[in-house]
Amino acid sequence: MHKFAIKVYGCQMNVYDGDKMKTALVNMGWEESPEDEAELVVLNGCSIRDKAEQKVWSDLGRFASRWKREGRPTVAVTGCVAQRVGHAMAARFPWVRLVAGPRHIGALPPALSMLVQDEESRVFLMDDDPRAFIDLPGAPTERVNRWRAFVTIAHGCDNFCSYCIVPYVRGRFVSRRPGEILDEVRALVADGVLEVTLLGQNVNSYGSDLPDGYRFSSLLRNVAVQTGVRLLRFVTSHPRDFTPDIADVMAAHGDVICPSVNLPIQSGSDRVLKMMNRGYNLDQYRAAVSSIRERLPGAGLTTDLIVGHPGETDDDFRRSLDALEEFRFDLVHSAAYSPREGTSAASREDQVPGEVKMRRLNEVNALQARIAREINSSLVGSEYDILIDDLAPRGSGLLQGRTPSDKVVLVEGGEELLGRFARVEITGGESWRLDGRLLPASR
Ligand code: SF4
Repeated sequence: MHKFAIKVYGCQMNVYDGDKMKTALVNMGWEESPEDEAELVVLNGCSIRDKAEQKVWSDLGRFASRWKREGRPTVAVTGCVAQRVGHAMAARFPWVRLVAGPRHIGALPPALSMLVQDEESRVFLMDDDPRAFIDLPGAPTERVNRWRAFVTIAHGCDNFCSYCIVPYVRGRFVSRRPGEILDEVRALVADGVLEVTLLGQNVNSYGSDLPDGYRFSSLLRNVAVQTGVRLLRFVTSHPRDFTPDIADVMAAHGDVICPSVNLPIQSGSDRVLKMMNRGYNLDQYRAAVSSIRERLPGAGLTTDLIVGHPGETDDDFRRSLDALEEFRFDLVHSAAYSPREGTSAASREDQVPGEVKMRRLNEVNALQARIAREINSSLVGSEYDILIDDLAPRGSGLLQGRTPSDKVVLVEGGEELLGRFARVEITGGESWRLDGRLLPASR
């Protein structure tokens, strides 16, 4: 039996693709093994930031010395890193025998069979058509987590934000068919999944390329009522496309759809938002937040924020800090702008110096840590029903789950609670997590 290992870097979409590849390989009769025993190692890499790309290069460097010693493993590079620099990786390392961009995941099973049959072969799957997707059919039954699963509902993006490489490496926006998504969620539920997160670079644009006015809110409602899934989440939303019907459906099906929204603001300055080509200004963002908070009081609201976009002045940056104070997000995914070759922002001459970006990033993180701590400590004494879905990281011996508003909660308890819903009282709140205790009813 052939042995394989898959290493996933980056976003939830890569995790989902990694699970799908793993499922396909197991269905082909391959066996998952630790990396040092595997004949085939798949590196499903990310290229959204330079740092993520460097991690794949560094792993390849590590394999180079092993290859010299042992003549293995064969390496496949997949994901958006493959689309961007896969050719360069294969040119440097001859044992990189398969390079496949994220739009070619469905072509991997026959390609991998070919690698095994013909030891001299190399396969490159990097079609240039940005709307051509070859999906792997079926639900990922080999998953990182037994009770939680992701389902991609749309590939790619058409927005071309100034700093973002996604439309170039993941392709243009293409919605999957509703029936295919519903079937996949049903199959996951039949396989024991309790919580599903619908994924897309821009989930609320879902359906804009489908006939008959079928939109994201229609899909959300249908998944909530037609699949038997217990909890439903989605990520990421674009502020310009967050129409009120989405929050209406969330409110109407609040027993299943979790009240949490990730709404990337990216900057608090209209000038920078325009340079970023985001398609909204701060007032429009404010209106989207109000519409969510009116319909879903207490909903969790998280965001993404970039500091140091080319041309960002101190005054622009202050506006981002003001926005954090105004919206009081539960969580902010902050990042210093990182130039990506081929994007419009990368070629601008008014780049912000690295030390200024770092200073701004530190300021954002300090402010947000204070805000999140205030919000989280105000929740002490609240009770929630949460799905205990994993062991807490770093061997703390704790279990973890998430509130409906998507806050991580750590509790003490035995592993028999994994995959069960538990009543939890919040006993403490830090900037990135809540501490809780199990209430007797959940035992
Ligand atoms: S909407 Fe998101 S994925 Fe699309 S280009 Fe902008 S930042 Fe990138």
